[in-house]
Amino acid sequence: MADKDPTAAEAVEIEPGRDFIRDMIGADLAAGRHQRVVTRFPPEPNGYLHIGHAKSICLNFGVAAEFGGRCHLRFDDTNPTKEEQEYIDAIKRDVQWLGFDWGEHLYHASDYFAQLYAWAEGLIGAGRAYVDDQSQEEMRANRGTLTEPGRNSAFRDRAPAENLDLFRRMRAGEFANGARVLRAKIDMAAGNFNLRDPVIYRILHAAHPRTGSDWCIYPSYDFAHGQSDAIEGITHSLCTLEFADHRPLYDWFLDNLPVPSRPRQYEFARLNLTSTVLSKRVLTELVRHGHVSGWDDPRMPTLAGLRRRGVPAAALREFVRRIGVARADNLVDVAMFEHVIRDLLNKSALRRMAVLRPLKVVLTNYPAGQGEELEALDHPEGKDGPKRSVRFGREIFIERDDFMEVPAKKFYRLAPGREVRLRYAYLITCREVVKDKAGDVVELRCTYDPATRGGNAPDGRKVQGTIHWVGAADAIAAEVRIYHPLFTSAEPAGGENFAADLNPVSLEILNHCRLEPALANAPMGDPVQFERQGYFCRDLDSSADGLVFNRTVGLRDTWAKVAAGGR
Ligand code: ATP
Ligand code: MG
Repeated sequence: MADKDPTAAEAVEIEPGRDFIRDMIGADLAAGRHQRVVTRFPPEPNGYLHIGHAKSICLNFGVAAEFGGRCHLRFDDTNPTKEEQEYIDAIKRDVQWLGFDWGEHLYHASDYFAQLYAWAEGLIGAGRAYVDDQSQEEMRANRGTLTEPGRNSAFRDRAPAENLDLFRRMRAGEFANGARVLRAKIDMAAGNFNLRDPVIYRILHAAHPRTGSDWCIYPSYDFAHGQSDAIEGITHSLCTLEFADHRPLYDWFLDNLPVPSRPRQYEFARLNLTSTVLSKRVLTELVRHGHVSGWDDPRMPTLAGLRRRGVPAAALREFVRRIGVARADNLVDVAMFEHVIRDLLNKSALRRMAVLRPLKVVLTNYPAGQGEELEALDHPEGKDGPKRSVRFGREIFIERDDFMEVPAKKFYRLAPGREVRLRYAYLITCREVVKDKAGDVVELRCTYDPATRGGNAPDGRKVQGTIHWVGAADAIAAEVRIYHPLFTSAEPAGGENFAADLNPVSLEILNHCRLEPALANAPMGDPVQFERQGYFCRDLDSSADGLVFNRTVGLRDTWAKVAAGGR
């Protein structure tokens, strides 16, 4: 182990998973049902992508790559009132960051607006769609219930010519928002609500990020989705379980329209994570109401937030691989995600020393005005690997928590009269505790044993505790941000009252941290382990006036315990 360079960011082996979708695609190809698999990832640009989307992205792009096919990125941009260019840009950036490439296959539902419109006219001509003048409330009231069929609209039997005229006038902008809709004429008594004459076009006098003011009627998501798949020649349309009930509707459109291909939809369970809300609506509210600093706030489960927090894309891919793809709904422990992050960072992150809550230590027998360079490993497994030097001197900082005036049982660190090892340096003994007027400890006066350079006692005497430190002469100051879950409960409701569940202390700011100087040049986003503390990365809020670091994850692994059955 010692002779390979463990700091070289070892790419995690990503073996393709085995699951029902991959099995099925394999079987379809083997049976010659398709020459080539074509999938797509179809986000609506009404928010940033989150870790749940990562599951869908890895699945769609993953199977395409494994089977030598291709995956499209398609924006489902059918609702201009909620969609923005900012989201389109962020989604592209995040998919690329995750490690996937759609190449030339970037599409938009809006690319097909003209085709969808023509198909809608076709349905009208065939007597399979009609313009309904009912208000939204009336339509809702006539929709029926689970046990009662819906009631036919009074406008349901309009003649095709009248429908066509009204639809064209809707398109021409003659009517106000909500005045009329175009509905598919299917069955108001269908057990499946999606088949009770669904709305397929609505009037929306709103500019669209891509088509501008070309349209004032827009297709519904359901009218766009399956047909977009068909236009693009998608072979396997993979989506989450909530769309299972929409499949009969998609199939109805495909059966009743002259589409160029016949995609098939397969559903899988969405990712749910403990202590995490993955509803775009709630995430939007968090941003809008300032509960977080933005979509890329490191507390957010968004890909932008996770990236800023220091989570490597490889950890997301590996996490998604480990959770697998199935049809049964489940809830994944967020500790499992952290376990994967830790696993990866443990291999790749450089080690550095940082004191988050500093306590000054003066080594009274160390000559004033002097100092020395000590060798420190960049990685614990790399005895022959990269090293750096850290400057030692008469004044250092240690972690407040590493001292107890009256040591508790099993506390092996510094205490009055006790000796500990300073990592990479010397053994020191605490001789005196200096307090302020309030009785708080403000300084320790210790002695060091010059014979223990490197941390070993030549006489072999036992020293149980090893603590980290930073030299006072060249320490750099920094702010360190520690993140806790945004929600207090393990299964946050995430509904209308999500705010009641918000964790009031999800962000902890440590203002007076002291870091070893090598960290001044830490590249943005590169992971580093602060020894004994966790994994951190420099935040983009760092400026000439001050460094800011984010804690990505702490060192304590609660998942390893769970996995071992010791919960
Ligand atoms: P909404 O429809 O409420 O805006 P959404 O999260 O479903 O939210 P989409 O942009 O429609 O947003 O999602 C794009 C794709 O990502 C869809 O195919 C969807 O099935 C998938 N997806 C969304 N959330 C998850 C999740 N938690 N786990 C797995 N896949 C998801
Ligand atoms: Mg959706």
